[in-house]
Amino acid sequence: MADIIPFNSPYMTGKELFYIAEAKFNNKLAGDGGFTKRCHQWLETQTGTNKALLTHSCTAALEMAALLLELQPGDEVILPSFTFVSTANAFVLRGAVPVFVDIREDTLNLDESLVEEAITARTRAIVPVHYAGVACEMDTLMSIAARHGLKVVEDAAQGVMANYKGRALGSIGDFGAFSFHETKNVICGEGGALLVNSQASALRAEIIREKGTDRSRFFRGEVDKYTWQEVGSSFLPGEITAAFLWAQLQEAQSITNERLATWEQYHASLQSLEKYGAIRRPIIPADCQHNAHMYYVLLAPELNRQAVLDSLKQQGVQAVFHYVPLHDSPAGRRHGRTHGALDVTLNQSSRLIRLPLWVGISAEQQAQVMYALERATR
Ligand SMILES: *Cc1c(COP(=O)(O)O)cnc(C)c1O
Repeated sequence: MADIIPFNSPYMTGKELFYIAEAKFNNKLAGDGGFTKRCHQWLETQTGTNKALLTHSCTAALEMAALLLELQPGDEVILPSFTFVSTANAFVLRGAVPVFVDIREDTLNLDESLVEEAITARTRAIVPVHYAGVACEMDTLMSIAARHGLKVVEDAAQGVMANYKGRALGSIGDFGAFSFHETKNVICGEGGALLVNSQASALRAEIIREKGTDRSRFFRGEVDKYTWQEVGSSFLPGEITAAFLWAQLQEAQSITNERLATWEQYHASLQSLEKYGAIRRPIIPADCQHNAHMYYVLLAPELNRQAVLDSLKQQGVQAVFHYVPLHDSPAGRRHGRTHGALDVTLNQSSRLIRLPLWVGISAEQQAQVMYALERATR
């Protein structure tokens, strides 16, 4: 049997090792050297954020955001249950309670029409997750937040190079978190960034990221010694990671374009399977320019997902399901609460499968994936 078509295959630009060698040659291996600065500038220009700070993961960026919010035990944070664990963990670590709200049928993003009724006297923040790089309905969420004095932290882990009404995901709320994990579009193994969108929080964000000290200001010559200013941790990556990422950021546009072409190919070719009733394809609202982070399909309710995945595997295709809803997990039940029944979350998450999508997948491989899906759902 031919090799299995993998779900993901990390793309390398070819410049990564060259830049890593340069970092070593410069004798600068700890964080916040030249490559980190270049990445910061690139991110700030690309997204329009006030300040971008590299972190060692999106998880770390979310934890920084939770620290910046100065949450008190018992404070509440509204987020979808259909997300990665880090979206909730970051706030639970500060003693906050995740309040899980249902998602929309079309985008699988936080249902903005349910958010306002989930707000209580303890609510401090809303955390929209831009699933598959498709934006949440940010205008509505931002105006709800403004009306109730809440902060907005965008989990834009999957949203690098994606837009909402022409604005970069991650740059719209108070804070945005990116991921450069090897399963995302632009990668450095493990990595992330915090976008600090207001001038007011920029200095505190730097301090929290540098173990709670004003070391960054010291290196800029703004203070004559650096001292412990507040509770923080080590959230920054080393220069080797930043050097790798720099190679990737330089090609971020072409990576996105290639992924979009693959995505469009799936989308056009799978229309017939949707008409036949076997699947539902992704729905992209008009205001959203996505980044082809993912191509998923929702299987018809009568299909057995595990049987479909097994059949795909037998046909040489590695497809995977995604999130187990957090409100339905042991830690989610212990630390969070739900608002309403979350029927859409339970329904859509049980029917979803993700197809192989990576830079370099060939037209033949893609055809094989679609043919296998057709057979598996027949
Ligand atoms: C990948 C992902 C994360 C975590 O990113 P890391 O960089 O691995 O910490 C968080 N939230 C969402 C929605 C993700 O997809």
